[in-house]
Amino acid sequence: MKIVKKQSIAIIGGGASGIFASLRCAEVAKTEKINVDIHVFEGSSKLLKKVRISGGGRCNVTHHIFEVNDFCLNYPRGRKELLSPFQNFQASDTVDWFEKRGVELKYESDGRMFPVTDDSETIIDCFMQEANKHGIKLLNKMNVKSLKKLDNGKISLFINEDESFIADSVLIATGSMPGGYRLAQNLGHSTTEIAPSLFTFKIEDEILKDLSGTSFPQASLSLKIDGAKPFEQSGPLLITHWGLSGPALLKLSAWAAREMMHTNYKAKLIVNWLGIGHQNDAEKLLSTIKRDNTKTSVGNAYPNDLTKRFWLQLLIKCSISKEKNWSEISKKELNLILNNLFNCELNVLGKSRFKEEFVECGGINLKEINFKTMESKICPGLYFSGEVMDIDGITGGFNFQSAWTSGWIAGNHMAQTKSKD
Ligand SMILES: Cc1cc2nc3c(=O)[nH]c(=O)nc-3n(C[C@H](O)[C@H](O)[C@H](O)COP(=O)(O)OP(=O)(O)OC[C@H]3O[C@@H](n4cnc5c(N)ncnc54)[C@H](O)[C@@H]3O)c2cc1C
Repeated sequence: MKIVKKQSIAIIGGGASGIFASLRCAEVAKTEKINVDIHVFEGSSKLLKKVRISGGGRCNVTHHIFEVNDFCLNYPRGRKELLSPFQNFQASDTVDWFEKRGVELKYESDGRMFPVTDDSETIIDCFMQEANKHGIKLLNKMNVKSLKKLDNGKISLFINEDESFIADSVLIATGSMPGGYRLAQNLGHSTTEIAPSLFTFKIEDEILKDLSGTSFPQASLSLKIDGAKPFEQSGPLLITHWGLSGPALLKLSAWAAREMMHTNYKAKLIVNWLGIGHQNDAEKLLSTIKRDNTKTSVGNAYPNDLTKRFWLQLLIKCSISKEKNWSEISKKELNLILNNLFNCELNVLGKSRFKEEFVECGGINLKEINFKTMESKICPGLYFSGEVMDIDGITGGFNFQSAWTSGWIAGNHMAQTKSKD
């Protein structure tokens, strides 16, 4: 009688990347007629927790950029390493993957892609149906505590207090949980410095006073941190009750995540509220307003793209009375307005976590991973995918895309690893 050997595959972490990897692995195994037994070990009582709450419950699945080089520009860490994985599975493949399974995605004007239902449960239902179809074993409350490489090449997983499991290949897809880093360290891996990414800035300045909710569609930001080159970002900006937020600021926080942590979140932020490219253009704009409004009070004639409330606050900061006529505004006062409009210097005092979406930067050292397979260069049979690696994207669907892509590649290769029996 011929004994059919089963390839035992263990995936640690039932989040975005682990589940996607398990589905790809099962699909490849089916197509290639490889006999696999796939277990997903999830430490908590719920699978796909972050997918459920992501994008404010709508799940920002990916971003509508289908050119791989451009897509990679949105990763402060991992940009170079993701190039080859994205050539195999990129945002357009994500769209096709979901479409083939009956889930249509749409994109919004800023490029973010969501299911047309605007409901993250659509994504979860799709994954659960696929997992059932393939007979993947999804196990909750299975916290993997440590890993050991065995002499026969297999890997042993120690789970909860007294359970264990032996697998031919193991994927660590534990997101940013410290326990996941320890599992990789058990098998010889190193991690880079962990720091929060995607946070808002705490700023106390006269110009922001009582303006919570005021937004600027196209501001330009420059962040100056001691000992680092300035970080630049432009886009929508929002005043909050503790300082500044909005897409441009969150992205800036991702680029400067480590440097900001090193200075305990103290830095100088230069804001160009209108995002005007050259100082000359800003000067011209103010001179035109002054020329055309000689008989109007300075509080009643201001750049179209600003709210009156913000303009009045800017005048308070410049100690200029809003009752003064434009004709009375001196050259010095005009320069003061110009500076606060075009080059407004604010002291960053700390960070506040953005409650909707945040990620950690840092994780498994990328030099220790083969990005063609996602396999460890240190421990054969061990794979990585998702946020556990030192990869993070800016806000907009980039973090999920790297989770899908790395999971897809790991799943591909794990299915094809030879059984060690
Ligand atoms: C509130 C919020 C909203 C977000 N919204 C978006 C968005 O709209 N778009 C986007 O692109 N990104 C978003 N992100 C980021 C995105 O969710 C993550 O980048 C992504 O989930 C990473 O996938 P992952 O599989 O690597 O990790 P996770 O999804 O975090 O999954 C890891 C899983 O591993 C489990 N685990 C950890 N350690 C162990 C262990 N030892 N044993 C067993 N199981 C373990 C955890 O319980 C968890 O279920 C959001 C993040 C948050 C927090």
